[in-house]
Amino acid sequence: MNPSRVITKFNSKVKSIYCSFFGHQYEVSKKITYHVKEYKCTHCTAQMTTNGKGGLTALTPKYKEINSVLERIHINRMSKKQVKQDKTFVTANNAALLNFTPHFS
Ligand SMILES: [Zn+2]
Repeated sequence: MNPSRVITKFNSKVKSIYCSFFGHQYEVSKKITYHVKEYKCTHCTAQMTTNGKGGLTALTPKYKEINSVLERIHINRMSKKQVKQDKTFVTANNAALLNFTPHFS
């Protein structure tokens, strides 16, 4: 087995040496809504997002899903079409989304 390949695979899972010394340096990778953004570390693959409480949390696949829903809602609101229908949809789903507890395993 190629040793350098093992190291690359290791680094993709664990934060880079730079980050372990200096911390992650996040930049906005995607704007979901006015308040919710996705961030990506410029030195490794770590990603964060704004959670329902306004703080930052790791961008798990579940949060990506939540953000894609939020983004769709946001775009729908911007278009101001089918507002009534969207509002029902938002209320029904937000409650479930905000109660979500991410699992880090
Ligand atoms: Zn990093």
